[in-house]
Amino acid sequence: MPSNAPADKNAAPPPPEPLRVPVADSHTHLDMQSGTVEEGLAKAASVGVTTVVQVGCDLAGSRWAAETAAAYDNVHAAVALHPNEAPRIVHGDPDGWSRQGARAPGGDAALDEALAEIDRLAALPQVKAVGETGLDYFRTGEDGKEAQERSFRAHIEIAKRHGKALVIHDRDAHADVLRVLKEEGAPERTVFHCYSGDAAMAEICAEAGYYLSFAGNVTFKNAQNLRDALAVAPLDLVLVETDAPFLTPAPYRGRPNAPYLIPVTVRAMAAVRGVDEDTLATALAANTARAFGY
Ligand SMILES: [Zn+2]
Ligand SMILES: [Zn+2]
Repeated sequence: MPSNAPADKNAAPPPPEPLRVPVADSHTHLDMQSGTVEEGLAKAASVGVTTVVQVGCDLAGSRWAAETAAAYDNVHAAVALHPNEAPRIVHGDPDGWSRQGARAPGGDAALDEALAEIDRLAALPQVKAVGETGLDYFRTGEDGKEAQERSFRAHIEIAKRHGKALVIHDRDAHADVLRVLKEEGAPERTVFHCYSGDAAMAEICAEAGYYLSFAGNVTFKNAQNLRDALAVAPLDLVLVETDAPFLTPAPYRGRPNAPYLIPVTVRAMAAVRGVDEDTLATALAANTARAFGY
């Protein structure tokens, strides 16, 4: 690296001031972060982030989430085939987050087989949610839409049958996600992870009792729509997450994210809501426990 390069561009941001009231990171991917699980959890706990929901995106990742949640009391698991993973399975080219380059026969049967494994994992007591599932029209094109929607509907059914929360990934697909939820009948506890809609959609979600989980992008300069949504959302439906290693909050945007950075986002959210950080943290902690049923 040239000596005049910014030294800390890829370095982990410094730990923020600890929260006085502990909260949960409602959505993280520890398996995509550097360091061990122990280190990540200890670092998070040292700043008041005492619980995490570990989210699986493919079969291997979902198995790992279930195993990790079984091993640590303060880790809960969510299991699913990500909306971008389902079409890959059908097309026979899953290169999922943890199985780079794997090849499978594909077809609807392959998706059914993968869903059956998600169903088995969803029955485990440490698995508190089915997700992330939903629709992603940003990364998946027209040819993957059918598989994606079929997978989404199947995940909704699995969540309801096991009485687990549903974690929604919605990217550029707001209207269709809301439509499918309505058609299938949403589970009692439904969480929009990395909420990306505007204030009008937040009101629709509030009406339906869906939880809105805000990630580090709520701090981004160009994300006024998210702050407007946060401002109108009922306090008892608001969650916070990192979606780490992605979406590192400002002023650390672009650097690696991890659960210990939750306080940065909580403080930005408290400012948007016009409440003190302890009040918000108390609500976030109660909401996350209620949403995921732990
Ligand atoms: Zn997502
Ligand atoms: Zn995620």
